[in-house]
Amino acid sequence: MDAMVGLVIVAHSRALAEALVGLVRQVASVEVPIAIAAGAGDGHLDFGTDAAEILQAIQEVDSPAGVVVLVDIGSAILSAEMALDFLPAEMRLRVVICSGPLVEGAIAAGVQASLGSDLESVCREAQQALVPKIAHLSGSTPENLPKVGEASASAGCTITVRLENLHGLHARPAARLVQIAAAYQAEVWVTNLTNGKGPVSGRSLNSLATLGAVKGSQLSLHASGPQASAALDALQRLVESQFGEETLEYSEPVKFLGPRRSPGNPHQGIALSEGIGLGPLFYYQPALPPLPDYQPDDPRVEWERLQKAIEAARFVLQARRQKLMLSLGNEKAAIFDAHLLILDDPVLLELARDRIYTAGQNAALAWHASLVEVATRYLSLEDPYQKRRRADVLDAGNQVLIALAGGASPGVISPPGPGILFAEELTPGEVSQLDPQSVLGLVTARGDKTSHSAILSRALGLPALSGIDLPGLGVEACSLVALDGFKGLLWINPEPEVQRELAVRRQQWIDERNRLLSRSHAPAVLRHGRRIEVAANVGSLADARAAAVNGADGIGVLRTEFLYLQRLTPPGEDEQCATLSEISRLAGKTPVIVRTLDIGGDKSLPYIHQAVEANPFLGVRGIRLSLAQPDLFMTQLRAILRAGADHDLRIMYPMIANVDEVLQAMALLEQAHQALVKEKLPHCWPIPAGIMIETPSAALLSQKLAEHVDFLSIGTNDLTQYTLAAERGNPRLADYLDALHPAVLCLVKEVVEAAHQYRKWAGVCGEVAADPLAVPVLIGLGVDELSMNPSDIPRAKEIIRDMDPAAATRLAEKALTCASAREVRDLTI
Ligand code: PEP
Ligand code: MG
Repeated sequence: MDAMVGLVIVAHSRALAEALVGLVRQVASVEVPIAIAAGAGDGHLDFGTDAAEILQAIQEVDSPAGVVVLVDIGSAILSAEMALDFLPAEMRLRVVICSGPLVEGAIAAGVQASLGSDLESVCREAQQALVPKIAHLSGSTPENLPKVGEASASAGCTITVRLENLHGLHARPAARLVQIAAAYQAEVWVTNLTNGKGPVSGRSLNSLATLGAVKGSQLSLHASGPQASAALDALQRLVESQFGEETLEYSEPVKFLGPRRSPGNPHQGIALSEGIGLGPLFYYQPALPPLPDYQPDDPRVEWERLQKAIEAARFVLQARRQKLMLSLGNEKAAIFDAHLLILDDPVLLELARDRIYTAGQNAALAWHASLVEVATRYLSLEDPYQKRRRADVLDAGNQVLIALAGGASPGVISPPGPGILFAEELTPGEVSQLDPQSVLGLVTARGDKTSHSAILSRALGLPALSGIDLPGLGVEACSLVALDGFKGLLWINPEPEVQRELAVRRQQWIDERNRLLSRSHAPAVLRHGRRIEVAANVGSLADARAAAVNGADGIGVLRTEFLYLQRLTPPGEDEQCATLSEISRLAGKTPVIVRTLDIGGDKSLPYIHQAVEANPFLGVRGIRLSLAQPDLFMTQLRAILRAGADHDLRIMYPMIANVDEVLQAMALLEQAHQALVKEKLPHCWPIPAGIMIETPSAALLSQKLAEHVDFLSIGTNDLTQYTLAAERGNPRLADYLDALHPAVLCLVKEVVEAAHQYRKWAGVCGEVAADPLAVPVLIGLGVDELSMNPSDIPRAKEIIRDMDPAAATRLAEKALTCASAREVRDLTI
C-alpha cells in the first residue's frame, strides 16, 4: 500500500488524546500513522497545547500523502496554526488543519485514511463526521442514516412535496434539509414548482432560501447518486413532519414576554434601567473593521486566509450557540446551526473563491462582496419572515470579516443619529461601547435586571428594557419608538399625545436627577445619627468619573474585569497599577475596594484556557479561577498593593464558598507583599481585605469567615441566583431573581450579625442596594454600607435621609416572616 495520510491529534488533555487514539485504532482496519500533541507542563498533566509539540507530531507522521491535524478547542487552533507557520514550505502544502470535530472527526479520518484515501477525502470525511449525529439528533430516525455498504446506484428520481409549516423554508427548516441531504451519497436538487424558481442545490442553505418557498409551495425534490431514493425518503419524512417545528412556533411574533398590552398600547417588557427614551429605532449591526484594499500577490495565500477566518468565525458562532442553548434551550439555539451552515455554503464560498482567483481580490474584499451579493438575493423574496433571514447571512458572514481583521473589536457603537437601539443581546463589552450622545435608549430581546449588560446600562444612565423582539414584531428601522425604563414599557409609533406626555416625563426625570445630584455630595445620615456609607460599583474609568460626579462615599466594588476583557493578552502589572492609580485619583480621598478578577460565569477571556462547562455559573469562576491561575492572580495582587502605596485601597475576593479559599488568597497576598519588600517597591501594607458573600455557603459560614477578614460585602446578584437556583440573565427566570426574597434576606441577616459580632462592617453591593423598596429593608437588617450604580447614588442618599430608622427595623422584621419576594414588596414602611 502507498503511504497513508497521517493524523495528528491536538487536544488540551493528554488523557483524552490517548484514549481517542485507542478508539481510532479499534475502528480503523489497518494501523494508521497517528501522533498526539496534547497537555502541557511536566508529564503533560496540565491542560493546554504547545505549538512546538504539534510541529514535532506533524513531522513524526508526515509522508507524501500528507497530514490531517485535528484540534479540540480555542487555543489548540491557534497553536496548530503557529506550528504550521514553522513548517518548511513544501511540507506545509500537504498539511491541513481540519475543521471537523475532534472525536467523531478522528474516527472518521482514521477509517478513511486506513482505506488509502487521499488527503482531501480524509479531511472531508472528518469535516462531515457530525452530519449523521446532527441528522439523528435533529429528528430523523436511525433508519434515515446511510447504511454501510448501501450502494444501489440510481440514475435519479424525483418526488413532489407540499410545504405545510408556517413559514416554509426559513432558516431552520432549510438547515434541516441541508443536513439531511448531506447525510446521503446523493446530489439533491430542489425546485419551487409554485413560482418556478430553481432548481438549486439541496446542500446550499442560501440557494434554498432564494426559492421563496412558503407555506403551501409545491417543491420538486430530485436526487441522483447511490443513495438517491433513501435521501428522498428521508426528505419526504422531514417535510411531512413539518420539519419537526412546534406548530405555533411563529404564530406569535413575541416569544419572550407577550405581547401584553396595557392602555396607550405599549408592549410590556422587563425594565432594566430607569429613564424615558424617545426616538427613531436603529437595529444594531456589529461595527465592521474597514476593508483592506491591498492587491494580493498570491491568491492561494488569500484563499487560505479566508479559510482560517471562516474557522475562527465558526468557533465564535459555536460558542454563541452553546451559550444560548444553556439559557434558552436547544430549539432557540438551533438558529445558530443555520448561521454555521451559512459559513459552509458552497454558493457563497464559490463566489468568494472566484473573486480571489479570477478577479485577484484580497480575502476580505472578496468575502464582503460575495456576502453582499448573496444577502441581496433575500431582498427579492416576498415572505417578510424569509426576507429577514438576510440579517442572519450578514451576521454570520460579518464574523468572518472580523476574524480576517485579526478579531479586532469594533469601536464605539453609535447609531447614525440620536435614537433607540435594538439588539438581540449585547455583551457587557458592547454596552460599554455605546455612545451616550446618540443612544437614547436600549431595547434587547434577551437579558434580565442583574445581567452585566443591564448593570452597565444603569451605570450609563441609559433607559433600557428587554424581552421584546422588535424584528419579530416586524418593526421597520427608523420607526419612532418610545420606552419607559421604569416600567419596562415600549411604544411603537406612539400617538402624538403619548409622545408629548413621554417628552414631559423625560424632562421631569432629568430635572429630578439634577435636583438629587445637587444634594448628593453630603453624607447619608439616618435621623438618629447613624451614617450609612453609599458607595459606587465601578467597572471602568468612566464609571469612576460617574461615581465622583454622583457623590459616592467611595468605590464599594471595583469590578476589575474591564482590565482583562476585550484584549488578546493579559494586562501586565504596571498597566494594571497605572489604571488603579488613575481610578484612585478620581476617587479623591474616599476608599476604593478593588475586587480581584471575577471571570467565569457570563464572562470569559480568550487567553485563559477554560474547559467548556455545562454550567459556567457553577464552574471555575472568581476566586476559584484566580487560585487555579496563581501567576495571573499574583500579577493582580502586586498591582493592587503597589497602587495602594499612596491611596486608601482595599482588596476583596469574589465568589468565596469556603474558609480555605480565603486562607489561600491571604497567603498569596502575603507572598506578593514579601516579594515587593524584597524588590524595594513601595506598596500598601497591611491592606484591609474583605470578601464577597455571593454563595449560600459563604453566608451560612459567615461566622467562620468574619474572623479572617476586615469586611463582608454581600453580592446579592449572585447570592440570589445561587439561593433560588435561577440563572441570572435568563429572562424566563426573571421572577425568581428578586433579592428581596425572604430566603435571601434571612442570609443577609445572618451575615450582618456575624460581621457585627466580630466588629466588622457588612455591606450590600448587588443591584438591590439601589432599589427604593429595598433600601429601608436592608438598613433595617443592620447593613452598614450600600454600594450601587453611580447614577443611583443621589436618590439612595435621599431615601436614607428621609427614613425613620425604627420603622425600617420593624419593616425588616416583617420581611423576614414573609413567604415570597412579592409579599415583601407589598409591605409598606
Ligand atoms: C453581585 O454578585 O451581587 C455582585 C455585585 O457582583 P457581580 O454582579 O459583578 O457578579
Ligand atoms: Mg457577583
